[in-house]
Amino acid sequence: MRIITKQLDIKTRGTGDLINITEMIQEVLAKSSLNEGSVNVFVVGSTAAITSFEYESGLISDVKELYEKIVPSDKTYAHDATWGDANGFSHLRAALQGPSMVIPFSDRRLILGTWQQIVLAEFDTRPRQRKIILQFIGE
Ligand code: ZN
Repeated sequence: MRIITKQLDIKTRGTGDLINITEMIQEVLAKSSLNEGSVNVFVVGSTAAITSFEYESGLISDVKELYEKIVPSDKTYAHDATWGDANGFSHLRAALQGPSMVIPFSDRRLILGTWQQIVLAEFDTRPRQRKIILQFIGE
């Protein structure tokens, strides 16, 4: 059993940016010497999240609408008063969605449905440089 830790560096464009990172993870896995195991995909930071859905334009806009409905961006939150950075909604969306996801793999392929992509969700109000940690555990 081995543990391999890798990092993806991804530039985002701020709130509502949903980036499909499935192939990037698959490429790192294919280059590793691991055949079976699982990978923990973790985004560093408190205003982004990792999620999964069918990555097509209709759902991309549906998912954006869902976040807007659950945590509206035009409302004032207590956090906004703490730092004056007006991104209370970003933190709340990230808290709700969560920063990580574990995906099993076999024969050096992620075990995913055809319409199941791994997506980095940027919630912050400005473009960010995101660090995604990929921690593979397997053999
Ligand atoms: Zn903040």
